[in-house]
Amino acid sequence: MGPGDLPPRPPESPLPFDTSQVVVRGCTLCDYEARVVEALGADPLCPWCYGPTERRSVVGIIMPEHVAPGQKNPYAASLGRLGGLKGGPARAHKLSAKQRREIAIKAARARWGNKKKR
Ligand SMILES: [Zn+2]
Repeated sequence: MGPGDLPPRPPESPLPFDTSQVVVRGCTLCDYEARVVEALGADPLCPWCYGPTERRSVVGIIMPEHVAPGQKNPYAASLGRLGGLKGGPARAHKLSAKQRREIAIKAARARWGNKKKR
């Protein structure tokens, strides 16, 4: 299990929909850090070393009114959406200057090619 993995939610702390948040929680003793869904004011122990944890940042809030019966797990859906939003811009920045130039040249060629035919 790596630091980015979501630990299984402890069964003894059911999360009410109206107070759930997606937070980044890290251990104050070891390297544990994970994005977890937890109730407002929750203070769970580190699943790795059982040391005290702290909230590093709040990623989002679970909105219960957007969840209709029969829809997929709101926790999974929210986390998936957060991951998707993060992945898009990150990939765009990975385009190198050379790649951007090649794309621009391709576009320019296509433009000039069309003009010559006319
Ligand atoms: Zn720990």
